[in-house]
Amino acid sequence: MKVNDSNNSIGGSTCKITDEICLPDSNVPRVVIIGGGFSGLALVEKLKHKEVQVVLFDKNNFHQFQPLFYQVATSALEPDSIVFPFRKQINGYKNVLFRLAEVEEIQPSSNIIITNKGRVHFDYLVLATGTTTNFFGMENVESHSLGMKDIRDSLNIRHMMLQNLEEAAITCDDKERDALTNFVIVGGGPAGVEMAGALAEFCKYILPKDYPEYPASIMNIYLIEAIDELLSTMSDKASSKTLKYLKDLDVKVLFNESVSDYDGSKVTTKSGKTILAKNLIWTAGVKGQFPKGIDEKHVVRGNRLKTNFFLMVEGYENIFAIGDIAANISQHTPKGHPQVAQVAIQQGKWLGDSLLKIINNEGVKPFEYKNKGSLATVGKRKAVADLGKFKFAGYFAWLLWSIVHLLSISGFRNRLMVGFNWAVSYFTYEKSNRLIIRNFKKETNNEQIIPKTVNKEKIKHTTQ
Ligand SMILES: Cc1cc2nc3c(=O)[nH]c(=O)nc-3n(C[C@H](O)[C@H](O)[C@H](O)COP(=O)(O)OP(=O)(O)OC[C@H]3O[C@@H](n4cnc5c(N)ncnc54)[C@H](O)[C@@H]3O)c2cc1C
Repeated sequence: MKVNDSNNSIGGSTCKITDEICLPDSNVPRVVIIGGGFSGLALVEKLKHKEVQVVLFDKNNFHQFQPLFYQVATSALEPDSIVFPFRKQINGYKNVLFRLAEVEEIQPSSNIIITNKGRVHFDYLVLATGTTTNFFGMENVESHSLGMKDIRDSLNIRHMMLQNLEEAAITCDDKERDALTNFVIVGGGPAGVEMAGALAEFCKYILPKDYPEYPASIMNIYLIEAIDELLSTMSDKASSKTLKYLKDLDVKVLFNESVSDYDGSKVTTKSGKTILAKNLIWTAGVKGQFPKGIDEKHVVRGNRLKTNFFLMVEGYENIFAIGDIAANISQHTPKGHPQVAQVAIQQGKWLGDSLLKIINNEGVKPFEYKNKGSLATVGKRKAVADLGKFKFAGYFAWLLWSIVHLLSISGFRNRLMVGFNWAVSYFTYEKSNRLIIRNFKKETNNEQIIPKTVNKEKIKHTTQ
C-alpha cells in the first residue's frame, strides 16, 4: 500500500517517506523476511509472539509445498490442496505482518528494501527467496520446455499434457501423434524421478480408460540423466532400486546424456540423438534467486549467498540468508548444504531461536544440520528410503514417504484433502478430474507453442 502524505495512518502507523509501505509503528526491532517458503515460514513460526516486529514479504499470497508439484502436474491432486494462504497461517500472530509484494532491491547501507509496491526500512533482513529453474543458458530449451518450480508450472504441465493427448486423438499424422504423446523429463533427481513415475502410472492406469482409442504403447516416457545414476545424492541401493521401478513402469532411462537443444517438437542430445516430443519437462537444475543490491563477491556457485555459521551473509551484520539461497560453506559442506526442505526448515528454526540472542549480543552455537534421511517415491507402493544406516525400498518406504509428506503439508484441511485423494487413488487407481480449464499457451518470441490444429476431415483413429 502506498501512502501519499505523512498524515496517513493504518493500524497505528505513521509513514514518513512518500512511497513507504504502510506498517504499524513499533518500538521493537523490525525483522523483514523475504520469502515464505519452508525456511521463511519456519522462521515466522519461531518468531511469533516474540519481542520483534516481523514483516513477511512474498510475491504470492500463499506458501507452496513443492515436493508434491508433480502430483498436481499429473492430475493426482488439485492445486489448492498443496498451497496455503499466508494470512491464514499468521492468524492470531500479533507481531507478524504479511505484505504481498515482490522485493526488487536491497539497499544495505540504508537498511531499506525496495519492492514493486513501495519501500520499507528494516533492522534485520532475512533472505529466504529460494531458487528458480536453471536452464544453463540454453535459450531454446528455456523457451520451449516447462520447469517445475511454481504451482503455475505444475498447472501448465497438466494442461499441456491433457491438450496434447486430445490433439493426438485428432491428428492423423503419425509423426505429429508421436511428438504429442512422447514425454521427455530431464534430470534424474527426486523431482524428475517422481514425475517420471507419476506419468508412467498415468499412462498405465488412466490412459486406457480415458483414451480407449489409443494403443497402450502410445505414450513414451523418457528420463534423461547427465551422469550414470539416478538420485545421486542417495545410496547406491536407492539408486538401483529406483531404476528398476522405473524400468518396470516402462520408463526409458537415458544415462550419460544431456539435452543440447529443443525446438518445441524435437529434443536433441549432446551425443546427437533426437527424440520427437512436444512435452519436455525440465528438472535438471536450479539457481538461487534474490533481489539486487547484495555485493557480488558474496555470491557463490549456483547463485547462492555465502553465509557464515550464524547464517549471516558474509560482509553484513544484519542480513541473513536461509534455505536454498544460503551457501553455508565449511570443510564438511564445501558446496553448502543440500537444497532440500529439511535444511530450509532447520535453518529457519535455528535462526528463529538465535536471532534475539544475536540482537542482544548473547552467545549462540553455530548452525548445525542434522540429516534425518531422504525419501523418494516412484509410484504407488514404490519408494526408496535412506535413514542413516537403514536403507530400504518398497511398500514400507512408500508408506513412510506418504506419512511424512502428509504431516508436512500446511493446514488441516489441506492434509485432509490430500489424504482423501491418496486413499481414493490407492483403492481405485483414479486421479482427480482431468479438466482443461484454460488453454495452455507457451508464448515465445511472439510464437505460441501449442499443438498444431489439424484438418478435422482427415481424422483417423488408431486401433484399440
Ligand atoms: C519439484 C520439486 C520437488 C521437490 N521435492 C523435494 C523433496 O521431495 N524433498 C525435499 O526435501 N525437498 C524437495 N524439494 C526442494 C525443496 O522444495 C526446497 O529445498 C525448499 O522449498 C527450499 O525452501 P526455501 O524456503 O529456501 O525456498 P522456497 O520454498 O522456494 O520459497 C521461496 C519463497 O520466496 C518467495 N520469493 C522469491 N523471491 C522473492 C522476491 N523477490 N520477493 C518476494 N518473494 C520472493 C517465493 O514466492 C517463495 O514463496 C523439491 C523442489 C521442487 C521444485
